[in-house]
Amino acid sequence: MSEVATQTQLIDRFGRKVSYVRMSITDRCDFRCVYCMDEEMTFMPRDQLLTLEEIVSLLRAFAELGVEKIRVTGGEPLVRQGVDWLFKELGALKATTGLKELTMTTNGSQLPKYAQGLVESGVDRINISLDSLKADRFKALTRIGNLTSVLAGIEAAKQAGFKRIKLNAVIMKGRNDDEIVDLARFAIENDLDISYIEEMPLGHVTHERGESYCSSDEVKDALAAEFELIASSVNTGGPSRYYQVAGTNSKVGFISPHSHNFCESCNRVRVTTEGTLLLCLGQEHSVDLRAVMREYPGDVVRLKQAIVDSMEIKPKGHDFNVHEQPIIFRHMSVTGG
Ligand code: SAM
Ligand code: SF4
Repeated sequence: MSEVATQTQLIDRFGRKVSYVRMSITDRCDFRCVYCMDEEMTFMPRDQLLTLEEIVSLLRAFAELGVEKIRVTGGEPLVRQGVDWLFKELGALKATTGLKELTMTTNGSQLPKYAQGLVESGVDRINISLDSLKADRFKALTRIGNLTSVLAGIEAAKQAGFKRIKLNAVIMKGRNDDEIVDLARFAIENDLDISYIEEMPLGHVTHERGESYCSSDEVKDALAAEFELIASSVNTGGPSRYYQVAGTNSKVGFISPHSHNFCESCNRVRVTTEGTLLLCLGQEHSVDLRAVMREYPGDVVRLKQAIVDSMEIKPKGHDFNVHEQPIIFRHMSVTGG
């Protein structure tokens, strides 16, 4: 056990520095995307969720332990009541800790209401999920989502002035793989970046994941037939590779959790809605930080010690296999995408 008093950064036993936390602030959502949720979902009782105050305390502790980047996610973060207060508190951490970047991932539906306030609170960049530009297909993929509201959300985000906006598209064979190029064109026309995500086997869903699985290589081939892609040096320490689209301001990224090669440079941990610290997206190693916070309210030293100690159990890497479902029983909405 290393002493927390002298600790200014989080280093695991493989020498990897943890500088990035992804925090899920709700498991609830106004969509039911087919790859993310079951049609009928039982959400967590509200008293099991971290309160907004607990989330701020927890993320402050991480920032004081050298975390430089926080991504707020869910579920849909913007359906949580009080989210505007939360972002103000988190934005303020940039002035008092080493936090450099505050980001979020959203389905975009609530952005017309929140985008401006998010920028004013200090949210630097946002990711907006968009899997189809066809209204009927968008409805089918999200089950209850509405394309018009998401397009309005993207427009609101552009107006609000985030440093950068990135689209996220999960590509599924036979569902939206014919829109790979159209989605990139949309991103380019709107001066956005776009990442294509391979479907991950997280939680039980109704379709057979092995059949819909579309590899990043296939997506990249489809794009390379239309655009000149120039390899970019951007390295996020995660499963993303980026390319500049020649002659445009936009980058395309490929998020390929099935390739293991990023685990060596992994710089991140996740915290679930209930305050469980997950040391790896593809493994079960975890620490119950809510228990620490509720047993010893206000004891920051004890909370930080639990975080520092967790570095001893961060696994070397994950072990996904898309053909066996599900490997990890947590849905992405609980883990935080
Ligand atoms: N609701 C927000 C949204 O949709 O952007 C944030 C949470 S969502 C869980 C974060 C990201 O995870 C989204 O881009 C979504 O498409 C992606 N996602 C969800 N389930 C996934 C899965 N099984 N495999 C790959 N990506 C997934
Ligand atoms: Fe909701 Fe995001 Fe999951 Fe879709 S991917 S159901 S928008 S949490």
